[in-house]
Amino acid sequence: MNAPEPLATRAPRWRDLPLLHRLGPAFGTRLPPTPLPGVHWVARSEALAVELGLTDWLHSNDALALLAGNVQPTGSAPITTMASVYSGHQFGSWAGQLGDGRALLLGEIDSPAGALEVQLKGAGLTPYSRMGDGRAVLRSSIREFLCSEAMHALGIPTTRALAIVGSPAPVRRETVETAAVVTRLAPSFIRFGHFEHFAHTASDTTALRALTDAVIDHFYPACRDAPQPVLALLEAVSRRTATLMADWQAVGFCHGVMNTDNMSILGLTIDYGPFGFLDAFDPGHICNHTDNQGRYAFARQPSVAFWNLHALAHGLMPLLDPADGDPAEALKAAMAPYKAMFAEAMQARLRAKLGLATAQDSDTDLIDDLLRLMAQDRCDYTITLRALGRFSTAAGADNAAVRDWFVDRAAFDAWGARYAARLQAEGSVDADRRARMDRINPKFVLRNHLAETAIQQARAGDFSEVQRLLQVLQSPFDEHPQAPAAYAALPPDWSTHLEVSCSS
Ligand code: AMP
Ligand code: MG
Repeated sequence: MNAPEPLATRAPRWRDLPLLHRLGPAFGTRLPPTPLPGVHWVARSEALAVELGLTDWLHSNDALALLAGNVQPTGSAPITTMASVYSGHQFGSWAGQLGDGRALLLGEIDSPAGALEVQLKGAGLTPYSRMGDGRAVLRSSIREFLCSEAMHALGIPTTRALAIVGSPAPVRRETVETAAVVTRLAPSFIRFGHFEHFAHTASDTTALRALTDAVIDHFYPACRDAPQPVLALLEAVSRRTATLMADWQAVGFCHGVMNTDNMSILGLTIDYGPFGFLDAFDPGHICNHTDNQGRYAFARQPSVAFWNLHALAHGLMPLLDPADGDPAEALKAAMAPYKAMFAEAMQARLRAKLGLATAQDSDTDLIDDLLRLMAQDRCDYTITLRALGRFSTAAGADNAAVRDWFVDRAAFDAWGARYAARLQAEGSVDADRRARMDRINPKFVLRNHLAETAIQQARAGDFSEVQRLLQVLQSPFDEHPQAPAAYAALPPDWSTHLEVSCSS
């Protein structure tokens, strides 16, 4: 008998029939990726490879060929890769049919955390490419790769990224760039838009019902036992989306393109495009250069998510039997917990960011007043909150480490006196509080200029900065004394002119 292959050297174990394949041909088109010439590694997430037991494999030529889309995966038989079809609302308007225009589902692999779908983004034309070329450029691939892994390390639900493969193949955007393929993983890439698609385009509810049943069975099994599983699903998705929005707002993450086709049914952060982390705190911050109206401005994200849940609810409506009660009212009731859930999750995160161990009614004012001061003085969101961990409650402490980030020092001192009193009232110990705060207020986030520097060097053929940045972003709460000072500093002047758009 052969000895079992050691975990670290084995190749991915492909499941024979990924979920979307099992659902049937209405859900997409089976087709192979389009090969890319001259492929090479750009970056790999060793941390994810360890989790998957794929460390050695990820350094093999087999892996390079597979993750470039140059060979097909093989399970007990060759697996047919597929692009899935979905629709969605973009910038508030019905956009009709969309779909994986440049993403291909390679298949599903087993992982210690359960089955994971593996997607190649940028793997060539599909029937859903519309006017696009099916490719992704190196620039946007580096941004998606780094941010996926950074969000995961921040404790925020997200699709993961295993690797980027680059190629000299030219890709035309505003200028001619080069192609890259990102390998993304998630339990599922199913979006709100998948439900909207079958609700709006199918002549009956067969496909919509099959999709909903599969999502419930695989990802929300507790909903199966509810009197109306569809309503239970909507409520569960609403709750996950509410906590995701609290996660984004608490860390200062702006997604940039919260169209319903970019909303995960699992409550994951998905489709990294023109995202940004707040530098100077501005609730109205718009990170997507093409979002002229500011529909997806930072402070609007929680209400946009709720709007998107309404679109999902509309998509689920055909599955409800009016004999069980008014479907519109029932769907509204299922989403109703969203607002309280978001508010509660947000308060919990902000309390923790201030190091408050207990909850008091007056905390809302204390938190709001700090955020107001930070917005008024355009304090750097990440740096200021990290510095607040160094706040001392000792009598006469000057607290320069945090105070100096404010313009209106007197206003900060007045707030600081209230904060100190509040901390003392709960018997807070400064050193313990700082340790707690340092585990929730990251020192490092993927600021645009950091990504930009890594991209510029990668374009010149040096991928080491991508890997260096990744390593720090994968433990963003640690001090990393050896890391370049710029990683945790205010953004440089040149970065205020960076414009990030949907072009990717
Ligand atoms: P996004 O704004 O990146 O979420 O993309 C919206 C839709 O356009 C999705 O269906 C994408 O698959 C598709 N898409 C974006 N870029 C391309 C491209 N270069 N080629 C083909 N399809 C694309
Ligand atoms: Mg998308």
